[in-house]
Amino acid sequence: MSFSIAVVGGGPAGLLAAQRLAEAGHRVTVYEAQATVGRKFLVAGHGGFNLTNAEPLATFEAHYGATQPRFATYLSHFSPADLRQWATNLGIPTFVGTSGRVFPLAGYKPAQLLRAWLGRLQELGVELKTRHRWLGFAGANGLRLRDESTGQEFEIQPDATLLALGGASWRKTGSDGQWTTALANIGVTPTAFAPSNCGAEIQWSAFFREKVGRAPLKNIALRCGDQQVRGELLLTDYGVEGTPVYALTPALRTALAHNTPAPLLLDLKPDLSDAQLLQKLGQPRGGKSLAAFLTKTLHLGPPVPTLLREVAPPEATATPEALARLLRHVPLPVTRLRPLDEAISTAGGIPFAEVDDHLMLRRRPGTFVAGEMLDWEAPTGGYLLQGCFSTGAWAARGVLGWLEAQN
Ligand SMILES: Cc1cc2nc3c(=O)[nH]c(=O)nc-3n(C[C@H](O)[C@H](O)[C@H](O)COP(=O)(O)OP(=O)(O)OC[C@H]3O[C@@H](n4cnc5c(N)ncnc54)[C@H](O)[C@@H]3O)c2cc1C
Repeated sequence: MSFSIAVVGGGPAGLLAAQRLAEAGHRVTVYEAQATVGRKFLVAGHGGFNLTNAEPLATFEAHYGATQPRFATYLSHFSPADLRQWATNLGIPTFVGTSGRVFPLAGYKPAQLLRAWLGRLQELGVELKTRHRWLGFAGANGLRLRDESTGQEFEIQPDATLLALGGASWRKTGSDGQWTTALANIGVTPTAFAPSNCGAEIQWSAFFREKVGRAPLKNIALRCGDQQVRGELLLTDYGVEGTPVYALTPALRTALAHNTPAPLLLDLKPDLSDAQLLQKLGQPRGGKSLAAFLTKTLHLGPPVPTLLREVAPPEATATPEALARLLRHVPLPVTRLRPLDEAISTAGGIPFAEVDDHLMLRRRPGTFVAGEMLDWEAPTGGYLLQGCFSTGAWAARGVLGWLEAQN
């Protein structure tokens, strides 16, 4: 039997769900508010297009924090290997780069992958209705939509619905978070959106901003609370950004809820033991300036001396012991996270308590949810797109099971 299924939202979660549902023989229509689908998917492509990660599933799952047990299920249903196979089937081979990150092979562009995907959806008979904004629910099964090109509002009565409307960052891609009102109207209270995987603000002096501007600090470790992340930090005019900062946004958010500024600690020499660090700093300094001494003994050139002067009093660099302590714990006082619209992803959204094990809304049987509109977060490294694909596939499976049980 073939059913009519509405998928709302043409991001990776919605499109993957549409593909799975059409492959199962159903009539699928994707409603997308923007003039084109997959805008954030293409934006993700600008930064290297890290599709997933080749890390073993057991450790992969751990990146989903408190939602790990649920993601263990979603990931085993549509795994990182499945995602790579999916891309290969569309003619886009992938490769494993540093830290297990998976990318399309050199020369294959994100737009090519999206084009091939849309071609596959067309072959499967998926209908794409762009410039169609979902406005809310209508009766027990219906949806209210507006054709943005004519302004006309209308209702549809699909056999099942899958919502994949995204989070609330990078509004210009279409993920505007406006859907919360329609969900609130049926009694679903989304957890407040918050920026995830974003930069952190530090009130640098005008002198520091002018002198340092944007500067990378390689091979460092950053710590917030009991979490430590290695990587490359970028000092910017507003504060800090880069993979380790992004990974610490949940910890920083928690810390900021209790204290401002939040204590972010930078270890400039994580590969040296305390004893090694002290031994190097114990060498006679002669008449050398701090900058010259740090460059010679530890290869810590600019902007490190300026940074140390910015955040620590002179006595913190006065003795080898004090300097060793400081280099291990350079305080970076974070006053706030960057605004939501700039964030790579969004924390908050539909709480998992509002959906059943198949990602169906408890308050609205027959309506399923996938992707970033659910309340989960994960670091960069391929875990975001993988999470969207895997929840999309799992919700599609839920739709199929539900339709079967109803008929
Ligand atoms: C700069 C940047 C770089 C990134 N890089 C990576 C990366 O390298 N690797 C990675 O794993 N992830 C990356 N991400 C994250 C990834 O792109 C997102 O997690 C993913 O796109 C979310 O997918 P989604 O399908 O849940 O939602 P989205 O992609 O946000 O799609 C939701 C869709 O729903 C539509 N919509 C919203 N409201 C309505 C409505 N009322 N009616 C109809 N349609 C509606 C939107 O227009 C949009 O097309 C990056 C994100 C950004 C911003």
